[in-house]
Amino acid sequence: MSTIDNLKDRTTPVFSQDDVTVIFVLGGPGAGKGTQCERLVSKYGFAHLSAGDLLRAEQNRPNSEFGSLIREHIRNGTIVPMEVTIALLESSMRTILTSSSPTNTKGKFLIDGFPRKLDQAHKFEEAVVPAKFVLFFDCPEAEMERRLMERGKTSGREDDNAESIRKRFRTFVETSMPVVEYFEGQDRVVKVDARPEPASVFETTTVELEKRLGKDF
Ligand code: AMP
Repeated sequence: MSTIDNLKDRTTPVFSQDDVTVIFVLGGPGAGKGTQCERLVSKYGFAHLSAGDLLRAEQNRPNSEFGSLIREHIRNGTIVPMEVTIALLESSMRTILTSSSPTNTKGKFLIDGFPRKLDQAHKFEEAVVPAKFVLFFDCPEAEMERRLMERGKTSGREDDNAESIRKRFRTFVETSMPVVEYFEGQDRVVKVDARPEPASVFETTTVELEKRLGKDF
């Protein structure tokens, strides 16, 4: 990926906030980020980029130089090096922004499962575009574990098993919560209680988003 070399030295954002609105979506594994993002896409016409989905696609791409590195991290529930993840996100954003599809012309992105580590947050905002805020789905570990074990029966995901789930929780608490706290310190977190059933969480999310962005964003 040529974007990777380019990213390392870049110190100004490649996209302008005038053209691009980014909302980071965070929450522990199983908090319901993907489910809520799907609904937000239908209601508001965001483009949805899931860091995990992009990494899984890159892992499975024939001849990817990063395939085995990504597989190892996903299995261990650890963080894939930021250059790989950011390059995948930037390249998907560019594809969407330059496509003629009328649904995504507003440049509104939900970036789901990112940034999971502080260095990613800093580099993305420095070299790609600053985000508006973090949408944080807050859910207790016991409930997330229950959901993931349930999903594991049919998801086919290599990391929806008890051992990987434990590691993913640890990574979330140790590495990703500091990201939420960093954005909280800047008053850039919209926090939603993710315990209720999906329709109810969605209702709260729309109210909170509209408070922050207005009705016609
Ligand atoms: P998810 O699909 O969001 O549950 O992510 C599955 C796995 O992909 C994680 O446990 C990590 O190994 C990897 N991953 C997802 N998002 C990121 C990210 N932002 N940075 C690094 N690795 C990630």
